[in-house]
Amino acid sequence: VIAESLRAEKYNSLNELAATIAHEVRNPLTVVKGFVQLMAEGEKKNQYHALIVGELNRAEAIINEYLSAAKPKMDQQRVFSVGETVHSVVSLLRPYAAKGHVQLSVESSEETLWVWADQNKLKQALLNFIKNGIEATPPNGAVLIKLDKTAKKKLLLTIEDTGVGMTKEQLKQIGTAYFTTKDSGTGIGTMVSIRMIEMMGGHVSYASKPKKGTCVHIMLPLYDKAL
Ligand code: ADP
Ligand code: MG
Repeated sequence: VIAESLRAEKYNSLNELAATIAHEVRNPLTVVKGFVQLMAEGEKKNQYHALIVGELNRAEAIINEYLSAAKPKMDQQRVFSVGETVHSVVSLLRPYAAKGHVQLSVESSEETLWVWADQNKLKQALLNFIKNGIEATPPNGAVLIKLDKTAKKKLLLTIEDTGVGMTKEQLKQIGTAYFTTKDSGTGIGTMVSIRMIEMMGGHVSYASKPKKGTCVHIMLPLYDKAL
């Protein structure tokens, strides 16, 4: 896995990720095949059933995360309001946050902040970051999304959670291929999302403390003229 992570860092386009993802999907399929063969021999049927469904879900999640990232090509550039984009992603995630009893809120400056980018890709990336924040946060915690402009005319989007946080070791691995601490995680969402932001000329950084929470900083170039 370590060798693969290092190799993954050299990839500079989403398309080149296809080969590694195909490879990663093969693992759960191989596992499933083995269980199906054992079931045919009549052993521990119920136990295998759950494992098979779990592995198939994992394969499906890997494919979905890759497809959503790679599908609409990077040529759908236009000017749009980031605030509006954030609100639409937040409303998608409201039920998910409510299920985990996590408070989800947005704080933004009065002024409309415009960027020139692929809005679907930004939505996808924000969805991944915010979803991770919700997943890291225990019941009664919160995820706060802040939107602001820096002195250097950049857009600063922060996603702050009161979740489990990350150790230094985990922080080093964030964004590398297949790094996950979740039972049915893929370790692809963050990698793909960081890459999408970078392809938009932006930058992502993380600050985190175990048991305190995590803050994701996303910087993006602002579009100068309001429409
Ligand atoms: P997945 O969510 O499927 O595990 P991701 O690439 O989205 O894959 O995230 C990789 C890992 O990074 C997670 O499993 C988790 O350990 C860590 N991580 C990401 N975001 C956060 C966060 N907000 N708080 C704590 N850990 C996080
Ligand atoms: Mg994730």
